[in-house]
Amino acid sequence: MAFPSNSVQNILRGLPKMDKLLAEMPSDIPHNVKLSACRQILETLRSQILAGKMADIPPMNELVSDAAELAFQRLSPSLRPVVNATGVVIHTNLGRSLLPKEIFPTLTGIAGRYSNLEYNLHAGERGSRYSHVEGILKELTGAESALVVNNNAAAVLITLETLAKGKEAVVSRGELVEIGGSFRIPDVMARSGAILREVGATNRTHLRDYAGAIGDQTALLMKVHQSNFSIVGFTKSVSVKELSTLARSHDLPLYEDLGSGNLVDLSSFGIVHEPTVQETLEAGADLVSFSGDKLLGGPQAGIIVGRGNLVDRIKRNPLNRALRIDKLTLAALEGVLRIYREPEKAVNAIPTLRMLTTPTKEVRRKAGILLNQLRSLSLPIGLEIIDTVSRVGGGAMPLQRIKSAAVSLEPGRAWAVDASVSRLEKALRQNEPPIIVRMENEKIIMDLRTVQDNEIPLIVEGVRTAVVKFERKIYED
Ligand SMILES: *Cc1c(COP(=O)(O)O)cnc(C)c1O
Repeated sequence: MAFPSNSVQNILRGLPKMDKLLAEMPSDIPHNVKLSACRQILETLRSQILAGKMADIPPMNELVSDAAELAFQRLSPSLRPVVNATGVVIHTNLGRSLLPKEIFPTLTGIAGRYSNLEYNLHAGERGSRYSHVEGILKELTGAESALVVNNNAAAVLITLETLAKGKEAVVSRGELVEIGGSFRIPDVMARSGAILREVGATNRTHLRDYAGAIGDQTALLMKVHQSNFSIVGFTKSVSVKELSTLARSHDLPLYEDLGSGNLVDLSSFGIVHEPTVQETLEAGADLVSFSGDKLLGGPQAGIIVGRGNLVDRIKRNPLNRALRIDKLTLAALEGVLRIYREPEKAVNAIPTLRMLTTPTKEVRRKAGILLNQLRSLSLPIGLEIIDTVSRVGGGAMPLQRIKSAAVSLEPGRAWAVDASVSRLEKALRQNEPPIIVRMENEKIIMDLRTVQDNEIPLIVEGVRTAVVKFERKIYED
């Protein structure tokens, strides 16, 4: 419905002048930021009036607070914390793993002070940055040697570049995975200079397929964890144990890219058993690489463990310099690994493991707390606790369903039904802090498994703000 044009002109005349709005803005906002925020608010109002969508100009104090909020949003850092209410625990887009609180003091200490990063305090001479995690990695995995690089993709690259450049790496067709973000094992292998020798069929690879592919040009046998997909039905793959016997008889190394790489078995918590790093080495892999920020629950890193002579060759590769990890990552990784010395403690102290193993009952209890707090606001939205399923994420255990509980939000009938769920989702996403949710069956779903206890008040405030703004029609599609 449009207003007569003369009344549109009248409404427009009621818009506050830029100078007036500027003068009311908090003084601690830099002038340019103030200016652009006020301009945006006034322009939005003008276009809404012109479109016949606004008959009354909101009071000055509301305009000031909207402009100030916009300005503060622009002043806040680009990379900032969000609330993950998706139920995807290792959410790659949301930073994968949260670091354990108990290592924060160590991190700030290393960040703000000089450290013995590459200085051997014992000998008083240059040292190796890797020495800080090498010992504990050996202790935890039983490996002879260890090395850490920027991430697991880098670990795959440098391992193949070192051991198989210009030669053949034998790998099953059923394991040529795309990890996401267009990272494909075959592409990384190609970049390393290794020649991919694919064996078997997509669903079935036999030991004899590997054996038949081995020749003068073979440099190593490789296994790649299927991570984010599963082949079911008429399938066959060759175990590390069987492959290692074959590799040994030809004097070839066996390397497994484990992807997630867990150090503790979570099967007693109802999570499917995945071979741990220790088990994979014990089964006969000569080298294993895995991510630091997937199931390990640490910082982004690529960890390579295995035989001393092989790891030494990788260490000496000049690429190692290009792929090396920085001191904050090292500090975080050492901190997380130290927690693994007591596996029972690790399951609770490492957020990724804690979230994966929190009993459904406990998640439901948290959902109840959120529900009650939201109900007490008497907002015009439908609120309910529903059963849902969380996911491991990070391309790990794609079939694993973790029973969980969520609070669902359903915009009230007063709102335009067609667009309101997605608009509410957007409002939550644009909250400070942003609240990232799922949308299912015309409802907003907030899975409490990935919500930290101290984030519940943030969600309550975020939903309140979003709904209030929504009612004032601040959001445009
Ligand atoms: C995730 C994954 C990678 C890549 O690891 P990043 O640490 O993300 O670089 C490589 N291989 C497999 C099998 C994976 O699951």
